[in-house]
Amino acid sequence: FFRTMEEAGIHLNAAQVEAVRCVKGPCLTLAGAGTGKTTVLVCRAGYLMAVKDIQPRNILLVTFTKKASEEMKQRISRLPGAEHGGQVHASTFHALFLYLLRSRHYTQEVIGNERYKQIILKQIQREMNIYDPYDAETLLAKLSHYKLNQKDIRELPEKSKSEKEVRSILLKYEEWKRVNHKMDFDDILTEAYQLLLGNPNLLTSLQHRFQYVMVDEFQDTNLVQYELIKLIAAHRNLFVVGDDDQTIYTFNGARNEFILDFDEEFTDAKVVTLKENYRSDAYIIGLGNEVIGRNEHRRKKELIATKVEGQKPLYSRPATADEEAVWITEEIQRLREEGYGYGDMTILHRTMSSGRAVFEQLLLKEIPFTPYNQKDSLFYDNWTVKPVVDYLRLSIVPRNFSAMESLLPTLFIRRDRGMAHILEEEQKERKKYPLIHLTTLSGLKPFQVKNVKERMKFLKAIGDQSPESAIKRIRKEFYHQYIDAQESHVVTEQKELIKEMLDELEGSAKRFDTISSFITFIDEMKAKYEEIYSNQRGSRDTDSVSLMTIHRSKGLEFPVVFLIGAIEGNLPHSSALNANKLEDKVYKDPGQKEKTTGAVEEERRLAYVAITRAKEKLFISSPAYYQGEQRKCSRFIADLFKQTPHADPKPAKKVRNGKVSKILAWVCTSSECIAWQRPDTHEDTESKVCPLCSSPMKLGEKDIIE
Ligand code: ATP
Ligand code: MG
Repeated sequence: FFRTMEEAGIHLNAAQVEAVRCVKGPCLTLAGAGTGKTTVLVCRAGYLMAVKDIQPRNILLVTFTKKASEEMKQRISRLPGAEHGGQVHASTFHALFLYLLRSRHYTQEVIGNERYKQIILKQIQREMNIYDPYDAETLLAKLSHYKLNQKDIRELPEKSKSEKEVRSILLKYEEWKRVNHKMDFDDILTEAYQLLLGNPNLLTSLQHRFQYVMVDEFQDTNLVQYELIKLIAAHRNLFVVGDDDQTIYTFNGARNEFILDFDEEFTDAKVVTLKENYRSDAYIIGLGNEVIGRNEHRRKKELIATKVEGQKPLYSRPATADEEAVWITEEIQRLREEGYGYGDMTILHRTMSSGRAVFEQLLLKEIPFTPYNQKDSLFYDNWTVKPVVDYLRLSIVPRNFSAMESLLPTLFIRRDRGMAHILEEEQKERKKYPLIHLTTLSGLKPFQVKNVKERMKFLKAIGDQSPESAIKRIRKEFYHQYIDAQESHVVTEQKELIKEMLDELEGSAKRFDTISSFITFIDEMKAKYEEIYSNQRGSRDTDSVSLMTIHRSKGLEFPVVFLIGAIEGNLPHSSALNANKLEDKVYKDPGQKEKTTGAVEEERRLAYVAITRAKEKLFISSPAYYQGEQRKCSRFIADLFKQTPHADPKPAKKVRNGKVSKILAWVCTSSECIAWQRPDTHEDTESKVCPLCSSPMKLGEKDIIE
């Protein structure tokens, strides 16, 4: 088998062969990024089939995404003697157990929409006459935490009044799901677990069917998933691979102690470690090792490069996220000329809002790209942002019917069926529909009429302001009403998301002097996106740059990776920083070793995951001015500078994109490296060494695009 594989060009190293050959009993492969863990899984499936004559249907392969499972099946089928690899049962935890439940006639509808659940929780609280409702998201997180850790929610504490209330809200929510024949993602796992426990015959047949169980990305399993896997793999042919440095889903209940303690749970487990990294050029691995090496709570692992030194990772500190985006798209075009395809490149961002600027530049430059969530990834259409944009529209065109209609909830007018009908009739009659006509509608209550009138006055007042200050006013005056009217109780984390999204919207608006030029720009973006999206729908495999969050990039690899928004507050994210303010204080004292909390360590793991996706070229950038604030370079990168991050420049002037201007900057003299940085605010003429490639830097002119 191994010889034929070699003939086919697949040369596994000794440790990999050892893992692949491990057929019976528990086996753990714990190794760093790009060391071939997933490759080992694929080859082992092939080995079982080709050498040990195991039927593909007896092999269960649990992966993290649907895409990964499909890819793995294809890879198995290409191995010698494993032509039927497509029949291996490869799927995600959720797909596997939903399939099981469906086969036993569990027909509940799966609720995939978080906001829907929040609305239900809000309603439940209203019915219970809870005057001061609890955060729906916090409630859901509590519920999820309980369920994924296999605790019974009836055992929730009920000492204080609030504990009692929370407990009964959650019990009512569970009841609501039962009565309405629904289940959420967590229920898929917990129901399946109960089903298997209560059904020994079913369990036995499952154990019999899946005699060989394998799990990829084992570091991100939560307790229920682990327990389910242990139930099925009672025969102990359990083969797991993972990397504790890549645990990035603890908010979903993932616990990396399962991987770290695997050999304590299964004392007879064979443990294989892989050291050679086959993915990335040496400089990239060096950077990855340096970044993750500063986490305190980890198992130290060796990661050795097998590839050439390659190119040094490139760092840049553009003035704004928009400048960062312009720089990236130019690099992309340049790399194309070097011979890279669009599909070789990916852009990784930490949060939804931090992808906005790049998304726009890709559209503007007409670079083919695939955002992770194709359908609703246009920033200006996001539910958090759209109402504010609609207000801007109305402030300049009072007859914009669709903007007005979508704003009805903020005027406390329910857009129920009756109202929709009246509006349609009205619209037909008048063709164009200014807000004032609303006040003449029959059926409106006096307070609603008052509301509409007030809003008109307000809109008139903001119409000739700059878009940035208009947005500020909309936010200040009534944005929260919109959220409430949407029936969703705004919760802490959601508030943070909304704040981030609106800060980003303001940042985007800053580039325009008038509301109408901003709206024209938004419409241009929309039209371009719709055109591209409809073109791409037919052929998904077009050669295109991918744009995704770091979380989504797990397990993937690309010749070229751009990691954007490497700044304090974004990576590490502010939510992690808030988790421990004290820790932040420690960081401000550069002499002291950074103390990290769990949350910040997880952010560092995210940075590690992002860096280790790159095979040949890695670009990291940290905009100096971001979402309305000066930002320091991410501590994960600044650490490598071996100095405190330099002072940040002034915010960019308000100018439209596209103009090239010259600034004075420190520029690296190496022709390979494009690092540059603005001088500190004070006299900054001492000679500098490039933080990335150690070549001397020169103070000189630098073209920037504004
Ligand atoms: P991650 O931690 O990111 O999930 P991984 O450990 O699963 O990474 P793989 O994706 O399996 O790593 O492998 C990384 C790259 O190295 C792939 O391109 C794979 O084809 C290649 N590779 C793996 N093993 C070998 C080998 N023995 N010889 C040459 N290339 C290899
Ligand atoms: Mg992998």
